[in-house]
Amino acid sequence: MNTWKRWKVLAIACWFASPLLAQKPQVIPGPDARVKADILVVVAHPDDEAAVTPYLARAIYDLHKSVAVVFATRGGSGGNDYSREHGPALANIREIEAREACAKLAIHNVWFLDGKDTASQNVLNSLANWGHGSNLERLVGLYRLTQPEIIITWLPSVFIGENHGDHQAAGVLATEAFDLSGDPAAFPAQVTGASKRLEPYLENLTPWQAQKIYYFSDANDSKQFRGKGPAYSVKEISPSQKKPYWRMALDAATPHLTQFPNDIERISNLNDAQLEKLMSDPTTAWWSEPMTLIFGKAVLPSAATDDVFAKIPATTRSPARPATKEPAAQRDQIDSIRLGGPWGFYAAFRLQHDLVDIPVSPQPEIAIKPGTSVYVPIVVQHANAATSTVLLIVQAPSGWKVTSGQGEFTLPEERSTALKVEIDTPWLSPEELKRAQPQEIIVRAEENGASIGEVKLRVQMQGGALPQ
Ligand SMILES: [Zn+2]
Repeated sequence: MNTWKRWKVLAIACWFASPLLAQKPQVIPGPDARVKADILVVVAHPDDEAAVTPYLARAIYDLHKSVAVVFATRGGSGGNDYSREHGPALANIREIEAREACAKLAIHNVWFLDGKDTASQNVLNSLANWGHGSNLERLVGLYRLTQPEIIITWLPSVFIGENHGDHQAAGVLATEAFDLSGDPAAFPAQVTGASKRLEPYLENLTPWQAQKIYYFSDANDSKQFRGKGPAYSVKEISPSQKKPYWRMALDAATPHLTQFPNDIERISNLNDAQLEKLMSDPTTAWWSEPMTLIFGKAVLPSAATDDVFAKIPATTRSPARPATKEPAAQRDQIDSIRLGGPWGFYAAFRLQHDLVDIPVSPQPEIAIKPGTSVYVPIVVQHANAATSTVLLIVQAPSGWKVTSGQGEFTLPEERSTALKVEIDTPWLSPEELKRAQPQEIIVRAEENGASIGEVKLRVQMQGGALPQ
């Protein structure tokens, strides 16, 4: 019997002997389903959402899709035609207007970035004034939190029309976040499992790749976009709500009193027939008929005019596309384990940045102060079609105590789950410390009795080591 087998028999013997180990597998929580969005709308200002609310009403009430909205600014430099507040005070009011408008369409998951409302036609002014990098990071975090299949945002392009630089900047950030959020090397602290120390900084999200991105535009001539994406009637009667989509969108626009109080007052005094006439006349209608969503790109092969949800799996938890440079072994092998934390990050980082020859320790290693705990961050790659149960077996040096992370774990439906094994190390006398040799921790994973791999961490006891 080799050492490993002998050790395993011992470990399993201890397993059955321990009252703790008779317990059911520990259930690892998955992502919070309350914030899951099928569609994430990324816009610049409170009231921008109104440009696509006829389609959102269709998606919410008749396709039963969940929608969330990100506003990149709070609209503080806009006008106020309703009351006296301006600047930051107006921004506070417009945030409330935006939340109320979204709530009228049952959209409750609404977030605001820190962009500063910047009134010009130059997207670069907006990006500079917003803090491009920090807001991109926040938006990538929201993609990973809400796990949307579909992104709908402003067209990042210059056309005669309002051509608002902030609108374009929202489209730029939304597109960049589309490309980055599936990459584990991009903003890696977001996708790192919580560590014992500095826990508030690490978010335990997973990389997430949205499937498709669509745009809409504030150009004067919307006809020029026909055929560039799927078109949806705004006049169609919602089967579930028994009224046209424009009507639901109109009702949802009424909280934006600071922006168009006269229009809102006027329409509030019209009867149904008068409203119908107003919204049927192309010269007075608020939305063009039909409304075209401009196709940006898709992960799966898609035609521009395909329906928004064509080819999107019906499951609410479609698999994240692996990062383009993720090693094939990691991409193809559904069930496997690897080291996470800094080691997992650097593996992705080196690939993403083509750092093929920089020094890497032959075996993952770390120095630990005696008497403190060492943790082994683990990432289990697994099928997302169903939950799976994984057994983690830890082999630690004699005298070290595994305090958490070993045993059976039921994993949520997702592509990868972060776990960690924690081990208390013994105190060593100065003499013992001097003689201390590197020790090895091995964590082995099994699924249905079969190995899905192991990870090793070489640990050197060192007096002045920083906390891991
Ligand atoms: Zn706007």
